[in-house]
Amino acid sequence: MERTLVLIKPDAVKRGLVGEIITRFERVGLSLEEMKIVNATTEIVEQHYPDDKNWIRSVGKKTLDTYQKYNLNIVEDLGTDDALEVGNLIRRWLIHQITSGPIIAIILSGNHAIEVARKIVGNTVPLFAELGTIRGDFSIDSPDLSTKEKRALQNLIHASATIEEAKREISLWFEV
Ligand code: ATP
Ligand code: MG
Repeated sequence: MERTLVLIKPDAVKRGLVGEIITRFERVGLSLEEMKIVNATTEIVEQHYPDDKNWIRSVGKKTLDTYQKYNLNIVEDLGTDDALEVGNLIRRWLIHQITSGPIIAIILSGNHAIEVARKIVGNTVPLFAELGTIRGDFSIDSPDLSTKEKRALQNLIHASATIEEAKREISLWFEV
């Protein structure tokens, strides 16, 4: 038995996808343990997406890879091709995005809940996410577009990636 943290982000709430998203977790057999609507503060989102150089660099790298794949020039759009600098910009946009409207915070539990939830959520980049996943079925966003528009990817949802991340995030969002 595992527990994982899911956040339904403002872009999904605004589009009225909350029921659809919860249905997908329920029908696979995951259980809803806790759920609440939150207007997240900057402070909590800064802790959720921590000021950690490795993570920030990996987020920046995803953008660089996408630009390379489509033969686009990131320096033209952002003035830099440094993964850490790009990642820092994205982190700022992300904090702005998650605090831009109500979100739903959920604790899901079940057999291999962390892995199963990530599988249902799909690839970080909606353009690359398989059909049948939440991100693949409901979004076509990509880092080249979001970077041009100076905003985070609209990928609808967050789900913890590892056991440690799930523990940390559950105690950040819930008093359990
Ligand atoms: P999450 O942590 O939200 O579940 P993830 O683990 O799939 O997503 P991370 O690499 O942790 O992906 O990125 C965290 C969030 O940052 C993403 O969900 C997305 O909203 C945003 N993000 C990630 N990479 C980019 C990018 N290249 N451009 C814009 N936003 C991005
Ligand atoms: Mg993540």
